[in-house]
Formats: sequence, structure tokens, C-alpha cells
Amino acid sequence: MNAEEFRKRAHEAVDWVADYLENIEQYPVKSQVKPKDVYHQIPDSPPENGESFDLLMSDLDDKIMPGITHWQHPHFHAYFPANNSYPSIIAEIITAGIGAQCMVWETSPAAAELEERMMEWLKEIMALPRHWHGVIQDTASTASLVAILTAREKVTDFNINEQGFTTKKLRVYCSEETHSSVEKGAKIAGIGRSNVIKIPVDSAKAMIAAELDRQIKEDLASGYTPCCVISALGTTGTLAFDPTRAIGDVCRKHAVWLHVDAAYAGSAMILPELDWLRDGLELADSFVFNPHKWLFTNFDCTAYFVKDKEVLLKTFEILPEYLKTSTRGQVNDYRDWGVQLGRRFRALKLWFVMRTYGVEQMRTTLRNHLKFGEWISSQIDVHPQFEHLTPPKLNMVVFRHVKPDMNEVELNNLNKGILERINASGKAFLTHTKVDGKYAIRLVLGNSYLEQRHVEGIWELILNSIK
Ligand code: PLP
Repeated sequence: MNAEEFRKRAHEAVDWVADYLENIEQYPVKSQVKPKDVYHQIPDSPPENGESFDLLMSDLDDKIMPGITHWQHPHFHAYFPANNSYPSIIAEIITAGIGAQCMVWETSPAAAELEERMMEWLKEIMALPRHWHGVIQDTASTASLVAILTAREKVTDFNINEQGFTTKKLRVYCSEETHSSVEKGAKIAGIGRSNVIKIPVDSAKAMIAAELDRQIKEDLASGYTPCCVISALGTTGTLAFDPTRAIGDVCRKHAVWLHVDAAYAGSAMILPELDWLRDGLELADSFVFNPHKWLFTNFDCTAYFVKDKEVLLKTFEILPEYLKTSTRGQVNDYRDWGVQLGRRFRALKLWFVMRTYGVEQMRTTLRNHLKFGEWISSQIDVHPQFEHLTPPKLNMVVFRHVKPDMNEVELNNLNKGILERINASGKAFLTHTKVDGKYAIRLVLGNSYLEQRHVEGIWELILNSIK
């Protein structure tokens, strides 16, 4: 493909994306293909000679698109969203075109300095502690791993980095509701899954700080070394909020690293009125949230903030001869701020999103999402055959259909059936969780393209599914 043909095909591809997003409601939200349906349509070997681009695009439509679950569909209410937006897509195209690998400042000073600024912009609009330092990671899982590794090095005086594992038995603490990435991080960090201690939660599914304190004291008495606490602002299952301040006080008392995982709900901190979300954050050592979930910036883009930059750098820096530069120490070489060496230019899409939306428009969109959550929640409140299974928070509801003559097992099957029917219809995609053994339907209202008509539409769909 030469430049001329690229120009033509790329314009067609942009039209393809615009058509796709404009017509997205015509697709079944959840892909309806069966395992290996797509696989068997792809030849065993690549073509010996280049094929026509028209054929490629028609295969995209015929063979690939049926196997896509449409995350940008307004009726994608599953998991948490992975939102995109037009400015973010444009920035992604430009990033690919520039094709820079931004491992150190010198490999693209603009990428490093824009990243530094974007993290400051986020810090400002979210009113995060001023002394934090930010870096973009790929995912929240990576950011939490980085936090666990940094905490591990701090508590062992950087010994594990140097000597490998010693006899010290480290422990990581989180609630029973915390995301599985914490266990994964502890496994990778060599701490071991059995040393991830799950602290009990209260009726709102929030970690009980007094139980954390009790567990840490018990562990200290038994010879363990408490390493890191992961506290959640918005758990995946029920969007529960751990009490950051109370947990932070416990961490301070025992000198344990506090990492706050606000992967989804963190975006809501751009709303000044949600002050409670920030309460106690100054006690955290690190913090993560995903602009790629609820801040219109397409996957992947994760904002990770750390209080003590030096500890982070000391954990990750490694300096082979070929990476020595004359600017070292004057600039941010982000390869030292996490696991990977090579880095994508992710700051560009944040810049495009924040400049085209403007803070006010981002706030308005999120406020609309909160109103949508309130609207659905009030429908559940007044309907005799539905109940909330956890108090509704932000723009997510966790609920179930109830029938007075049914026992818990029957209710679980009933709600599982409702969810399966809705998802099989292709009209919407919802996922579930379990709340105290009860099968619960989760409904998230955070899609970039969501309007009130969709919110009324999903409620009607739910009502029809119980008829
Ligand atoms: N933490 C929480 C609370 C999450 O909900 C998720 C994913 O939904 C993650 C972490 C992991 O996010 P990522 O896919 O960016 O690794």
C-alpha cells in the first residue's frame, strides 16, 4: 500500500467507523456466535501474495463483525463500560500514524511532557492531592501490580529486588469484594495468593476498618510483615466504597502502603459535588482509575498516581548502557515508572478528549449518567416485583425480580433466566453478581452515547422479560 492508496483506504475506514457508530443500535449488543465460529472462517495460513483491500473489508463485515460484542452500544450495560468518543478515536489514529515508542523522554519528548501535563490536568479537575505524581499505565491490573511491587520493595528495604525472596512473609489485605487483579498481582509479586487476606465487609459491602486493624495486629504478632492494603472505591460486583479515611488511619498506624483502586468510579471525582469520594485520599500512597472506563478515552488508558515518586522509581529503574541519556534526572523517563519498557503514546487521546469536551461537558455527561442511575433506581423502588440487593450508587443498580411464593434457589434461577433471555435477544447486554448468595442483575448506565430514551428502553425490556 502506498501513500496514495493509504489516503483513500483510510478515509474509507474513517467512514466505516462513523457509519458503525451512527448505526450501532442495529447490531445485537452481545455477539451471538458460537465457540470457533469465527476461527473456522479464517484460513489456516496467511496469503502468499497480498489480497485486495475490498475483499479484506468485506471479510471484516461478514466474518469479524458477527463475532464482536458492541461495547459502544448504548444498551451495553455489562461489567463496566470501556467508552470511546470521536476525539479519542481521532487521537488513536494519529498515535498509530506517528508510531512512536515512548520509553524514555528522548524517544519522544512531547509524549513524555504531554503525559506529565495530562496527569496534572486530571489531578486538578479531580481535586486529587497536589503532591501526587501521575503516570499512564495500560490497565488497572498493571497499576495495582505496580503498587504491590512498590510496597513490597519499600517494606523490605528494596531487598527482594536485589536478593530475591527472603524469609520474610509478606501479607496483602483487601476486602472480600476487591477485584481479582489484586490476587493476580500478589501471585506475580511472589507474595502468594494465600497471603492475600480478605477482610470482612459490612452490610454495604464496604471493608470494615476495625477488622483490618485487628488482622494486621494478629499478623504482626504471628511474625508476618504487612505489606500493602488495597482499598476499593467502587467494587466491580456491587460498586461498594471502602472507607478510605478509616482504612488510611489503620495503614498509617502500622506503616503499611495504601493503594486505592477506583478503576471505574474514580472518573466521578471530576464532579466537585461528590466530595465524599475524595475523603481520606490524602492518606493513600497510590491511586488508580481508568479514563478508559468512564472518561470517553478509548481502551487502554489508566491513570496511576503515587505519593512517593522516588520509591516507585527505585523499584522499577534499571539502567543498561543503551538506555543512558544525558537528560536523565531532568525529565520523566516513564520506563522507570512501571513494568514495561516500550510505551504507547496514550497521553494524546486524553489531550484530545479533554480539549474537545472541555471539563464542563465531561461533567455534564457524567451528571446525566448519575440521573439515569437515579431514574432506574426509582423504578425499582416503586415496583412491587423488584428489589435492590445493595443500596444504589452512582450510576449502577444491583437488583432482582422477586415473587413471594418462590424460595431463594427458585429466585436465583428466575433471575438467571431473565438475564439470559435479555442477553440472547441482542437488545441489551447485562451481567450479574451474587450478593449474599442471591443472584443479582447489575445494570451500569455509563455509556458515552447513552440518552434518557435508552434508559426508559432498558427498563421496558426488563419489564417485558418478566411477563
Ligand atoms: N479494579 C476494579 C474495581 C475493576 O472493576 C476492574 C475491571 O473492571 C479492574 C480493577 C481491572 O481493570 P483493568 O481491566 O483495567 O485491568
